Amino acid sequence: MKKIKALAAIALAAVMTASVFTGCSGSSADNKSTGATGAAKAEAPDTTKSEPIDYMVLVNKTNPLPDTWEDKLETIHTTNSIGDTVEVEKKAYDAYLNLKQDLVSHGIHVDLDSARRSVKEQQKIMDDFTKKYGAEYAAKTVAKPGYSEHHTGLALDLYLIIDGKDVVENEDMIKYKKIWAEIHKKLAKYGFILRYLEGKEHITGYGYEPWHIRYVENGYIAKNIKSKGLTLEEYLGKAKGGKVDIDYGTSSIYSKKDLEDAVIQLKCDFANFEGCKLHNIRYAGDSEVNDANLKWVNEKNPDAKYTKVAKFLTDFKSPKGKKNSTLESNHEYKDYQWWLARTDKDGWEVVSKGY
Ligand SMILES: [Zn+2]
Repeated sequence: MKKIKALAAIALAAVMTASVFTGCSGSSADNKSTGATGAAKAEAPDTTKSEPIDYMVLVNKTNPLPDTWEDKLETIHTTNSIGDTVEVEKKAYDAYLNLKQDLVSHGIHVDLDSARRSVKEQQKIMDDFTKKYGAEYAAKTVAKPGYSEHHTGLALDLYLIIDGKDVVENEDMIKYKKIWAEIHKKLAKYGFILRYLEGKEHITGYGYEPWHIRYVENGYIAKNIKSKGLTLEEYLGKAKGGKVDIDYGTSSIYSKKDLEDAVIQLKCDFANFEGCKLHNIRYAGDSEVNDANLKWVNEKNPDAKYTKVAKFLTDFKSPKGKKNSTLESNHEYKDYQWWLARTDKDGWEVVSKGY
């Protein structure tokens, strides 16, 4: 879902691509190219630039970009092999160039698809979606302004150049597993980490993205994070890690892959449950896949025209003393329900959840 230029195209793509198998459908705008932006960044006053940015900053679905970030940020603009302008934080860009050069010496060619996107640009995408599709759809489809790691300028989406050809679409790129593995081996040396790990969707809020790398500056820290298999959230102690048990049960309706895709969406959604620790996810069984339940999810979201429904159950624990939350404090939730639905073309989405 890369390389999309105009907002109209982004809108269309979002309608079509909820099925991106590696991503979370609720955040597709986060993976878009910034191509449409074009405008040069206004330089911030020099006085604020003396104060360095925090290269370990955490920005995710529950942690917004710090208020003063955009004043302190120093970026460069570069043009990629496709001809798009990409904006990157200065130091991260230097580190990227070193990484890129190292990869070239191993016969691997990469370029930058997208890096920094300002909060204002994200707000513009949100406004455009709201105008065209309504607030509810916009909220579901576009990453909330202020809550995308791409705002930092430290998150880089790479694309591959294979035999001189640009490979930019997610579904094409994901096939080059060996090449990504080689790239990932080199990241820490230059102060980068892989940000959205497989199986950690409940922590990061995003599906596996081999192309989304994050600059953390310190190579020793990057190495430590990688060797322990941690997400940035876990490393910073802002997430309770641990294993999530998944029971797919048996189904004569859905393939394992179908259920895995549904679980990824569920885990992405769960990342919004701030501070909650997910213990397990269970498929509730084929008996819930019936006409009455399908009718019910379609009533919840009449425009969607779902053809498939699936129910899952989860156990999790809520954190102590959380305000502004509908969840009870420090409570062990059992059999919390999740209803997911899909059309024949699109991927799963969470339609309803609760006790
Ligand atoms: Zn990204």
